[in-house]
Amino acid sequence: MNRVDLLKQLAEAVGVSGAEDEVRALIVDAIEGHVDEWRVDTMGNIIALKKGTGKISLRGMVVAHMDEVGFMVVGHDSSGLLSVESIGGIDAKILPALRVVVGEDKLPGVFVWKPIHFGSDNGIISIQNMRVDIGVTTKEAAKNAAPFGTRVAFDSQYITLRDSVVRCKAFDDRAGCTELITLCQSDPFPFDLYAVFSVQEEVGLCGATVLTAAVQPDFAIILEATACHEIPQDPDEPDMTTVTRLGQGPAISYMDRTSIAHPGLLRHFVKTAESEGIPHQFRSPQFAGGTDAGVIHKSGAGVPTLGVSLPCRYLHSPYSIISLTDFDHTVQLVRTALMRLTPSALER
Ligand SMILES: [Zn+2]
Repeated sequence: MNRVDLLKQLAEAVGVSGAEDEVRALIVDAIEGHVDEWRVDTMGNIIALKKGTGKISLRGMVVAHMDEVGFMVVGHDSSGLLSVESIGGIDAKILPALRVVVGEDKLPGVFVWKPIHFGSDNGIISIQNMRVDIGVTTKEAAKNAAPFGTRVAFDSQYITLRDSVVRCKAFDDRAGCTELITLCQSDPFPFDLYAVFSVQEEVGLCGATVLTAAVQPDFAIILEATACHEIPQDPDEPDMTTVTRLGQGPAISYMDRTSIAHPGLLRHFVKTAESEGIPHQFRSPQFAGGTDAGVIHKSGAGVPTLGVSLPCRYLHSPYSIISLTDFDHTVQLVRTALMRLTPSALER
């Protein structure tokens, strides 16, 4: 399967945090035959080993998270409507009238909104006063169709907007997962590479917390999708809110909300990008969220860690936008940097 079909399949699959099963099955299918072994740990992370050529005695770990933001059913009204709680960071302002899918059977649903005939609504839009309508009209029917704990996900199809620019939900971080699968399908690296597809990143980096104990990596690379918001808030400071820019290549992180990059790995990746002429940019830490790097870099006795992110507009919405050109440059940068990596890149 080519990278576009794989990305489409993974982004359209549903895997709200803690219920990543559909995504996990697709990834296992895609990596089988390209890795030497794989297992699923207690948390649900996929830990796959791609043996190296043996030239360099290092253990590398590359991580992308499988889960996406979404909702969980937490109540049923007498009218058959579902109360939900957010799983991960979602702005309630985007929810009214939005299409969703409910549960493993992907029952179609919609977030309710007050029709304009009832007058303008000056109330605060919060998840607590929203409901999901799945087309049933009694509490009993709602409970049967979507029991407490059922996951609810954005309903969104992958489409090409123009040229290499595409739109779907969950590019955070199915784009990272697709990049990592592509690396698994590469020629062997000079060292053993552990490809890890983590769970529950969006609810507190949970899956990644146990990885260092299991893998004992000498270094870790985190493949993420990161915010991109190119609308100036203040005309005098046009770049104030731009964490990254679409189409300008992978964003290398000096720092995000939960970690600071390892200086040796940072130098190595920047040098690789410069010497190969691979377009790249630096992720501004100002509005960048946290990533799995936040727990991995300070786990065990400390792990040299670097994040490489794909710019993604409208992150955590049903309609995220990425550039496939950025995607290809991200894979090119990470693959080349890993092929050239030696122990000296892990010095401070
Ligand atoms: Zn993410």
